[in-house]
Amino acid sequence: MKKILVSACLLGENVRYNAEVIEVSDKINDLMAKYEVIPVCPEVLGGLPVPREACEIQGMSGSDVLDGDTIVRGSKGSDHTGAFVIGAKKTLELAREHNVEFAVLKQRSPSCGSSCIYTGKFDGTKQPGEGVATALLRRQGIKVISEEDI
Ligand code: SF4
Repeated sequence: MKKILVSACLLGENVRYNAEVIEVSDKINDLMAKYEVIPVCPEVLGGLPVPREACEIQGMSGSDVLDGDTIVRGSKGSDHTGAFVIGAKKTLELAREHNVEFAVLKQRSPSCGSSCIYTGKFDGTKQPGEGVATALLRRQGIKVISEEDI
């Protein structure tokens, strides 16, 4: 069976920043019937706890974080960039270890977003962009889609 990487929160795991558990959707269940699913939470892999401070990329995209052009900041002001970059690298290692076909990662997350993220103002505004883990996977040629694209 071919393997895919899926955001652990989309699989009902308690890994979200606010410790909220998401109900597994029918679309995700369909994927689980077709593929061997490898769960991943880049932020937990990066060493962040559950629950944790809400984080947003400051005004740019995940690729800019990897290039050192912006940071990932928590809502209380802490710089969490290091944890996000470590989490992205561990996510890439997992993808390579399992030779995944593609990844389905949660939209709007500063790690997992694939076409939309928050702006960094912590006011609910969004902008086109991708998360840090998504950016690293794509740089290495791994296709990333969101749960909204299934
Ligand atoms: Fe973890 Fe990504 Fe889900 Fe955030 S969106 S909880 S980083 S798997």
